[in-house]
Amino acid sequence: DIQLSQRVLSIKPSPTLAVTNKAAELKAAGKDIIGLGAGEPDFGTPEHVKAAAVEAIAQGKTKYTAVDGTPSLKQAIIAKFKRDQGLDYAANQILVSCGGKQSFFNMSLALLNAGDEVIIPAPYWVSYPDMVLVAEGKPVIVECPQSQGYKITAAQLEAAITPKTRLLVLNSPSNPTGMVYTKAELLALVDVLRKHPQILVATDDMYEHIIWTAEKYENIVTVAADMYDRTIVLNGVSKAYAMTGWRIGYAAGPAKLIGAMKKVQSQSTSNPTSISQYAAEAALNGPQDVLVPMVKAFKERHDYVVKTLNSIEGISCSAADGAFYAFANVEGAIAKLGLENDLAFSEHLLNTVGVAVVPGSAFGLDGHMRISYATAPSVLEDALGRIKKAIEG
Ligand code: PLP
Repeated sequence: DIQLSQRVLSIKPSPTLAVTNKAAELKAAGKDIIGLGAGEPDFGTPEHVKAAAVEAIAQGKTKYTAVDGTPSLKQAIIAKFKRDQGLDYAANQILVSCGGKQSFFNMSLALLNAGDEVIIPAPYWVSYPDMVLVAEGKPVIVECPQSQGYKITAAQLEAAITPKTRLLVLNSPSNPTGMVYTKAELLALVDVLRKHPQILVATDDMYEHIIWTAEKYENIVTVAADMYDRTIVLNGVSKAYAMTGWRIGYAAGPAKLIGAMKKVQSQSTSNPTSISQYAAEAALNGPQDVLVPMVKAFKERHDYVVKTLNSIEGISCSAADGAFYAFANVEGAIAKLGLENDLAFSEHLLNTVGVAVVPGSAFGLDGHMRISYATAPSVLEDALGRIKKAIEG
């Protein structure tokens, strides 16, 4: 019998990918299944981005690149930060990786010692706690209920900090809730962080462009310049440009930490795919209005999904500010059906009406479900009709 490492035994496979796979399996077996688990836009990658990749192949740009990304892609990223957020970074403060996921993974390995605490507000993106565990850090989960918009408050942050706290993870717009931190909310967190200068912040801005707030998009650095030296900004092209399969994410932050993350990457994957890097460069340097129709569609679907969910007995869904997920409180529906928890609820939906959703507990907050509306409106209509039937009979 093979003895596996404690490290790998401490983690679980991504639950969102598991739901997507289970739905695909049932579908392949001929069952009538609607999968609402996917975390990727249902739009295609923009044509000029695909063309840039084809061009890169034709020109033979198919060899190793610099571990941390091609100089030209790094310049495009530097320009993006300046253009969108007014932030200045030098080339040694940027690391390009194989998706946003690898950026966070590199950061965890480069930053954490055994037992270092990482504050993760729940509901959270499923991968944060497990990546912290792989690095032998300790996830400190802070539950943020619907009543506070699923966002961490200054008081909660203060209470969660210990001498072992190394990092706070923020994700706005959030996966799974779509909620965005306002400037005032971020400044309240900054007030707490100023008293604890040893704590770094990771701001995961992956859904930055998929947003419909009246207020301009802000993260912890854009609201407080003094956070610049202790913040690592994580972003990527996966969601904004419908490029999930290309695997390009990037990180910006203190040169020392970025350098350490680069070292980790140099001993694991080396550079991200050369062809994808040329495509990402085209996405960042090219016309940004390609995002407009996609964001408009997501907003329309958001309005429809939230309204429809709230019309179903036992479901309460708060309106979101961005991303492409509806995170709904289904405690009433769970009670009505006499089920134990949200895992049983999601299994009930799959077994009775063939709709695959992800239970809130996968994101660290029980009593909820996440629906991805990155899917055609007619399919959403069908799915929501089925959910209503599963609950109301
Ligand atoms: N961050 C958040 C909040 C996400 O939802 C995702 C993808 O689901 C990622 C990062 C990672 O994106 P990728 O590794 O596909 O670039």
